[in-house]
Amino acid sequence: MKDFEIPVALKQLITPNQAFHYRIIPVGKKGTVVKLKTDHSDLKSLASELAILLNFEAELVSETTENIQSYLTYNYRQTTEEVQELNSTNFLEQLLQTAKDFNSSDIHLEAYENHCRVRFRLDGKLKEQYNIPLNEYPQLINQIKIQAGLDISQKRLSQDGRITVKSASDDFDIRVSTMPTLYGEKVVLRILKRDAQAVELKELGFNPRELKLYLEGVKMPNGIVLISGPTGSGKTTTLYGTLKLLNKEATNILTIEDPIEYTLDGINQVQLKEDIGFDFPTALRTFLRQDPDIIMVGEIRDDKTANMAIKAALTGHLVLSTIHTNSAWATISRLIDMGVAPYLLASTLNMSVAQRLVRKLCNNCKKEVVASSEVFPESFKGKDNIKKHFVPVGCNHCYFTGYDGRKAIYEIIPITKDLETAIKHNELQIDDYLAANNLNTLKSNAVAMIISGETSIEELYSILAN
Ligand SMILES: [Zn+2]
Repeated sequence: MKDFEIPVALKQLITPNQAFHYRIIPVGKKGTVVKLKTDHSDLKSLASELAILLNFEAELVSETTENIQSYLTYNYRQTTEEVQELNSTNFLEQLLQTAKDFNSSDIHLEAYENHCRVRFRLDGKLKEQYNIPLNEYPQLINQIKIQAGLDISQKRLSQDGRITVKSASDDFDIRVSTMPTLYGEKVVLRILKRDAQAVELKELGFNPRELKLYLEGVKMPNGIVLISGPTGSGKTTTLYGTLKLLNKEATNILTIEDPIEYTLDGINQVQLKEDIGFDFPTALRTFLRQDPDIIMVGEIRDDKTANMAIKAALTGHLVLSTIHTNSAWATISRLIDMGVAPYLLASTLNMSVAQRLVRKLCNNCKKEVVASSEVFPESFKGKDNIKKHFVPVGCNHCYFTGYDGRKAIYEIIPITKDLETAIKHNELQIDDYLAANNLNTLKSNAVAMIISGETSIEELYSILAN
């Protein structure tokens, strides 16, 4: 699939619109002459048109329509809307809108010794989108810093800010983080404030039984529901799908977050401000005086927050939060390590959930292969049960990534009377219980996805190795 990749330096000699309109692909450059591949039938008339349009001399070479289409999708990935041409006057504005249209979560701007680049995070992976001349980079960074309300003269310390983008189609917020690196400031822009109305809980990846168990846990009038997983595993999306479902006129929902990633009409969202002392425990204390029914806490990361969450649950509120652990059961030992009393945890925790986000293989091009033991992590015990699996290939449909969309996989442990007793006595062996109660783990769900061909082994490697 790498065959269709052209270097960014060549790629940006023409705009995506020019590439699609004239069906031309720059494949080489010698001095001022650029070699362009095309499937145009009349090379002569195309050459005369391009001579007026382009600021370089074009040498046209014929290519098959199929290959040109592959080059176009690989290099100039188009969204449903026409991709805007990037020019220097409003590069920043267009960059932000393009990232939003591509459904990218983060934009990285980086300076190196001889060049600067812009990468987009698409479906969890970074991909280079633009190359910027060194001399234009500082100006772009200054523009970002001004819009984000940052000090442009301060280049030696990291800074954080925010940009609100207002365009004809939508409004969204961007969190800006700058950091000094060897050759200039690196800036990461995170696209925030997507409307949670679009999040559908049942479409995130739960199987029917998991969804039923999950809903039972979040529909209790009080108690704690915790979702664990690394950054970028979709925890916030699951929580917002849940809040959307629980969002009723009769219910007061309060959230404290850092940063606020989604908006949802009808709930009260509060931004954490640790620099002025408004941290998670302080916010929770305030919330308890605000007559809440449901409280969402962005993350439990210390004993104070954990104990305030328990207090809120004990006084009759439903608390939803996230925590950084590897599995649903590891959450319990983590909280006990933080200093939460096991008997309090046992009596307040409704459910512990773990989740990961997994890229799905493109159904148009995935390929079935016979499994060999080398493709699995050494520590994975179930390898003998997997005889065949699918690998990514890449085609026009999936922009030559081999993958198409993502889904979450879940591990859901409802806290039953048996588990309450186990938590109180700090008996934290769980594997037999999960098997006896037919509860899926991240690993058993991962194996099922490999066998059904929904995803590849490489995508689930870290879960299998665990
Ligand atoms: Zn494909």
